[in-house]
Amino acid sequence: CGIVGYIGAKPVLDVVVNGLRKLEYRGYDSAGIAILEDQRVKVLKSVGRLSNLEDKLASNTLNGHLAIGHTRWATHGKPSDENSHPHQDCSGRFAIVHNGIVENYLPLREELLAAGHQFSSETDTEVVAHLIEEMYNGDLLKTMVAVGQRIRGAYSLVVICKDHPDEFIAMRKSSPLIVGLGDGENFVASDIPAVLEYTRDIYVLDDGEMAMIRRDGVECFTLDGDPVEKEVYKVTWDA
Ligand code: GLU
Repeated sequence: CGIVGYIGAKPVLDVVVNGLRKLEYRGYDSAGIAILEDQRVKVLKSVGRLSNLEDKLASNTLNGHLAIGHTRWATHGKPSDENSHPHQDCSGRFAIVHNGIVENYLPLREELLAAGHQFSSETDTEVVAHLIEEMYNGDLLKTMVAVGQRIRGAYSLVVICKDHPDEFIAMRKSSPLIVGLGDGENFVASDIPAVLEYTRDIYVLDDGEMAMIRRDGVECFTLDGDPVEKEVYKVTWDA
């Protein structure tokens, strides 16, 4: 699938949708966005191609400085509005987009059902949204380190939380993810072409790394939460 995330002062949905368009080859089943607006996470999604989502966005006036988006290549659950990303927990506090497969989603789902969670999709991804809610301790980074230790499989994962309007998290295990570095703004994406219009300074996340992304900076860590120094990769080619 294709993932894009943005924090900054530009019209966020334009940045995310432009990025998704560059990645549309990575998935045609559905498209969706989540935006942090007035301390709330709002999600809009649509089965089918990105243009269906754009039609929905045209009749909405969503505004904010942090948003994530996804184009889906369905692996678990048919292409449908409900199975489209972003996925949320019961409280609606979090929204996540995911590329890959959570191999142990069935036992996790059973465990979360027993703990009282209600599911609204058939995806492996939604399990992670509920797991985050279950494990959340107020610290987004520590929570995601703990969540990463419970999920098996291949993923790149991007998470926003309404309690943390000035930061979001991207993590990568086996699926690709890059961070685009801007001035007072930063980006994440599955692939460099999604951000090239805005920046040529990139952190290529290595397998087993995560990033805490804020408007004024990006910190990288291992999936255990240990800090990692990254080198900036300067893109000299055009997409
Ligand atoms: N396994 C997830 C799903 O089917 C993510 C698929 C993807 O990478 O687009 O929803």
